[in-house]
Amino acid sequence: MTLDAGFTLNAAGLRIGELRGQLRALGAGPLHEARVMRLWTHALPWDSPRRHPADHFPRTLDQALPELISTLSGLARLQLREPSSDDEGERLLFELADGQTVESVLLARGGVCVSTQVGCAVGCTFCMTGRSGLLRQLGSAEIVAQVVEARRLRAVRKVVFMGMGEPAHNLDNVLEAIELLGTEAMIGHRNLVFSTVGDERVFERLPQGRVRPALALSLHSTRADLRASLLPRAPRIEPADLVAAAQAYGRTIGYPVQYQWTLIEGVNDTDQEIDGIVQLLAGQYAVMNLIPLNAIPDSPYRRPSWERAAHMARTLHQRGVLAKLRRSAAQDVEGGCGQLRARTISIQPRAPGGRAGAAGAVGAPPAGAAPAGVAGA
Ligand code: SF4
Repeated sequence: MTLDAGFTLNAAGLRIGELRGQLRALGAGPLHEARVMRLWTHALPWDSPRRHPADHFPRTLDQALPELISTLSGLARLQLREPSSDDEGERLLFELADGQTVESVLLARGGVCVSTQVGCAVGCTFCMTGRSGLLRQLGSAEIVAQVVEARRLRAVRKVVFMGMGEPAHNLDNVLEAIELLGTEAMIGHRNLVFSTVGDERVFERLPQGRVRPALALSLHSTRADLRASLLPRAPRIEPADLVAAAQAYGRTIGYPVQYQWTLIEGVNDTDQEIDGIVQLLAGQYAVMNLIPLNAIPDSPYRRPSWERAAHMARTLHQRGVLAKLRRSAAQDVEGGCGQLRARTISIQPRAPGGRAGAAGAVGAPPAGAAPAGVAGA
């Protein structure tokens, strides 16, 4: 068998399957492959005083190691860091190998929220990421690289897929990343949280996986018409059917489904919605996360008062729904995502019926717009 002398993969859009294939082409056996994956996903040094790679890798792989390391470290380069106002989290901006940028968020208690796409096609009307439309899919290795880079900053025990992008629209890559994170990267399966606006393919594929993650469903309304206007390009599935499919998966894995609800003043914080949530979720093994809107520029939507949000959570609780009101800005990632990226590339608001644009040079924030506390990578 002829072995490739060098490491020839392109970092932009790289998939874990391609990476494994290249390792095999360089003579790696299953144990070598597992070792590479373990060292990478735990952000461990490739060389150590006691064991040199040459001692335990085939020669061809050992010779290609500098290129492998350079490719892996070029998957996602930390460009900016922005601490959240409550000091519990930190927003990170990564530059990918082709110059595109994505955000991740370090969360309290060892969590990290990662992006799965550059931009997003769902176009939620309260979300900055939705304004750009979908620019490209992330390869599974690029998704994992965000966790690896987070591990260079601090311990990571939980990964939520709630950053930029709709994971259901990049399902193969997200599931490939989940499998690696739940095996070699040793993250507990229920500490991997797959987030979706709801898609039949998700409910088919998740139960079949070797690693079956927890599920978060972005509901935002129990009214089909309002939900369709807030999430214009989400699949048209009745909220009751979505909840039934999500609950079935939750029962399969024996873990409660989390429902995400971005609270928008006068839109979905109404008594009618409280009744609708109670109808769908009272007595169910589920958690309703109420997340007051993280307002974005040029948007008519407002965050409701804390009293109104607390009233909603309290009433749901009294009526049999386990509801949590999320106070922390660090937890407020969905809908808040994309804002750091937007400040660096000047994303334009989506015109009614038109396409939004993203223009400007990466790494060139408009004057006065640089986030406080930003450190260069
Ligand atoms: S909230 Fe999530 S699904 Fe909706 S546009 Fe933003 S990234 Fe996409």
